Amino acid sequence: MFDKVLIANRGEVAVRVIRACRDMGIKTVAVYSTADADALHVQLADEAYCIGGPRLAESYLNDDAVLTCAVKSGAKAIHPGYGFFSEKASFVRDCDKYGLAFVGPSAEVIDSMGDKDAARRTAAAAGVPIVPGCDLLKSPEEATAEAERIGCPVLIKARAGGGGRGIRKVERVEDAAKAFIEARAEGEAVFGDGECYMEKFVAPAHHVEVQIMADKQGHVFSLGERECSVQRRNQKLIEESPAPCLDGHNDIRARMHKAARDLARAVGYEGAGTIEFLYSDDGNFYFMEMNTRLQVEHPVTELVTGLDLVQLQLQVAQGEPLPFTQEEIHLNGHAIECRINAENPDEDFRPCPGKIQALHMPGGPGVRIDSAIYQGYTISPYYDSMIAKLIVHAPTRKEAIQKMRWALSEFIVEGIDTNIDFQLRLIKNKDFEAGTYDNAFLTRWLEAEKKK
Ligand code: ADP
Ligand code: ADP
Ligand code: MG
Repeated sequence: MFDKVLIANRGEVAVRVIRACRDMGIKTVAVYSTADADALHVQLADEAYCIGGPRLAESYLNDDAVLTCAVKSGAKAIHPGYGFFSEKASFVRDCDKYGLAFVGPSAEVIDSMGDKDAARRTAAAAGVPIVPGCDLLKSPEEATAEAERIGCPVLIKARAGGGGRGIRKVERVEDAAKAFIEARAEGEAVFGDGECYMEKFVAPAHHVEVQIMADKQGHVFSLGERECSVQRRNQKLIEESPAPCLDGHNDIRARMHKAARDLARAVGYEGAGTIEFLYSDDGNFYFMEMNTRLQVEHPVTELVTGLDLVQLQLQVAQGEPLPFTQEEIHLNGHAIECRINAENPDEDFRPCPGKIQALHMPGGPGVRIDSAIYQGYTISPYYDSMIAKLIVHAPTRKEAIQKMRWALSEFIVEGIDTNIDFQLRLIKNKDFEAGTYDNAFLTRWLEAEKKK
């Protein structure tokens, strides 16, 4: 049993992990940057240590500072949250070296899935369908030739990419060389790895992902799926479970869940992970990538399964077997999450850091908020603009949408711009309401709004 856990993250996810630890009677250690001295995770943790300056490399991505802090504080484990160290294999190896448990899969599994090009081949070997495409591209000329062979539109993807970065869409063969050079440059700049591959662009399609949970005893479970097709620039804005696009397609849903479990089993997965698929309206689905960590949108799964994924992660890391069978996992009702960002939708979603002058958060039955903001808190320009996640749960999708409308309209944040009104308009959209929206829905809608 861990008596103390260090949380190597900030913001809402750090607070989320602290709360799970409290529920389990585990003491918590927070780390923070000089820009985060007033942050909520620092106040809620049992101990907190400043580890460096505001820039990520100086603090939250400073391996040595975090590891030293863990050892000195007597923490037995490190929870990485999402982002930051959560998918960094060398950090996991360092944890092993210092005798610290890393709450997540092994360094080998992270390596095998972190490289999206290698992950495609692993998935194919496990019998999971992948998007038609090619292996690593060696030159702009090869990109042109492959675009010709695969057939446009195609996507060029940096193998190390994440968070929607390092992806370029190619509409015409003659644009492939330029897109390859751009994707390579972005991969190098953002992830320090410029290697890219190419995939057929599947459209119309839906983003459907399966939540996996696995223990060290080799048990692998799927905990339902989430649809995350409401995306802007490949970044998710609304997520829900179950996936509306699979409504009436329980056979496909069952096959997708099995494919996810097969892949997790094939790589010896441990802990919480997500396997992302593209679901095409013709009934086919394709492996897209695996995220070897807790996902931003995990609360929708928690609400429909009644499970606490962070507590389960900690139990698995302690070597405990997961306390259920696949048959015992029941999905109840419908959950929807809206990501609330400090940004101005009228100015191309420009981030709007600043001081929160007044704050009222919605509540009531079936309403959950995961956030680290409070009245008087100043949102720093150094970090992600997501300031809260509003999640609702109701017996049916229709009721969940209704609840989300009320919750969004009650939510007041003064002093900064947010996307709350924008989310409210999205939730009221007819295509969203009908559950027929696909990955291109938001882009289409924004284009139509611009013309008005
Ligand atoms: P999720 O997949 O958890 O729903 P998103 O894909 O929308 O979340 O983006 C958040 C995740 O993407 C983070 O957890 C992080 O792992 C990754 N990410 C986002 N931006 C970057 C970046 N600039 N560099 C590295 N990883 C990033
Ligand atoms: P990231 O690591 O940045 O999350 P993904 O590979 O998961 O990158 O892709 C991000 C998003 O881009 C997906 O959620 C999906 O909307 C879109 N996408 C990715 N691959 C394809 C594809 N082959 N065809 C159509 N859309 C795709
Ligand atoms: Mg993804």
